[in-house]
Amino acid sequence: MSCCDQTGLMTVEQALEKLLAAARPTAEIETVPLMSALGRVLAMDQYSSVDVPPADNSAMDGFALRFADTAVDGETTLVISQRIPAGAVPEALQPGTAARIFTGAEVPPGADTVVMQEQCRWDEERVTIAAGIKSGANIRPRGQDIKEGASVLHAGHRLKPQDLGLLASVGIASVPVFRRLKVALLCTGDELVEPGEALPPGYIYNSNRYTLAGQITALGFECLDLGIVADNADATEQALLKAAAEADCILTSGGVSVGEEDHVKACVDKLGSLDLWRMAIKPGKPLAFGQVQGTPFIGLPGNPASVFVTFAIAARPYLLKSQGATDYLPVAVSVTARFSRPNSPKRQEYLRARLVLDEQGRACAELAGNQSSGVLSTASSGSGFVIHRLGEAINDGDMVPFLPFSALLF
Ligand code: AMP
Ligand code: MG
Repeated sequence: MSCCDQTGLMTVEQALEKLLAAARPTAEIETVPLMSALGRVLAMDQYSSVDVPPADNSAMDGFALRFADTAVDGETTLVISQRIPAGAVPEALQPGTAARIFTGAEVPPGADTVVMQEQCRWDEERVTIAAGIKSGANIRPRGQDIKEGASVLHAGHRLKPQDLGLLASVGIASVPVFRRLKVALLCTGDELVEPGEALPPGYIYNSNRYTLAGQITALGFECLDLGIVADNADATEQALLKAAAEADCILTSGGVSVGEEDHVKACVDKLGSLDLWRMAIKPGKPLAFGQVQGTPFIGLPGNPASVFVTFAIAARPYLLKSQGATDYLPVAVSVTARFSRPNSPKRQEYLRARLVLDEQGRACAELAGNQSSGVLSTASSGSGFVIHRLGEAINDGDMVPFLPFSALLF
């Protein structure tokens, strides 16, 4: 198998490469008001039609003056010729005078320096300024943040709160964004019941539905929740057809192992096409990728921790790229391991870990606890994944890559 290493498994990088190569960014664009644009993906570059700030303005409450009017050494006393609160339009500064000015107010033409009020004594008519002021001090120049005509954000950018503020600061009231991807979610398993119902013998609560719906919506996609799908060909086929007709992508949990109760593979094969990958990832491993009547399909494993990991590591970049986003790969940071793990030769492991600070205030990761694929509690008590790379050991004190959950759930 050319795609795989000597163990017959596909590395996480290889699987990601294949997934990302298949992702077709959506083309449908809609315009939304800025207030509704949080988490959406910009469809066109955005430019500023103004300078920000639009004029030189004061960074301090104080007095605006001409530096040339101040004494080289010693105090300077000047007549106060005008008062300029924020929002006022100043008159030109009369030479040899000072203007009372407040933070954010426009600096009057002719003034080149603002002295902060802590360095001044003043009454109604005059201000006396301490020695040693600096030419040009305390003025925020026009266009300091953004110049007229400059590009402020690029297409493919996912809008965060500060981006909305940035767009507002240049006067943009609505933005072109890609239509939100609709992701259909099917949870397979005859053993599943919904929380809120009694738990008969042999059953477990359906947790994947909530984990995955949460991950889907946290990334800004629309979730078409199709609930529990029974382990039989008819139910699976019906649910897949509905998903294919209504959604941009289909996501399933469970039923992609090779047991006779696993119907997803056979049904997707019948209605479309499917590759079953054995990914070198732990927790995880079986990952199915294909299409149902032309709608992309991703089959995640069934175990709750495997679902959480494989969505975050494999499905998330694929979906974000399909949504038109450009920052679909998360960036790991380097932290100090506070634990040891022997060489893990076969599968790259995503260890649920907690960030803690050591005595010097440096970021360290300690294991959150049980790493079994069926254990979800450590995904909740952890704050991210330590990546235990293929074929490497981790020794206490080593620098290891850490992916914060905050970088995976956005
Ligand atoms: P499967 O791949 O369908 O054999 O599922 C693997 C394991 O994950 C089994 O122990 C299932 O009971 C469990 N599992 C599958 N789906 C869910 C779900 N929606 N919520 C919680 N556990 C699940
Ligand atoms: Mg199952």
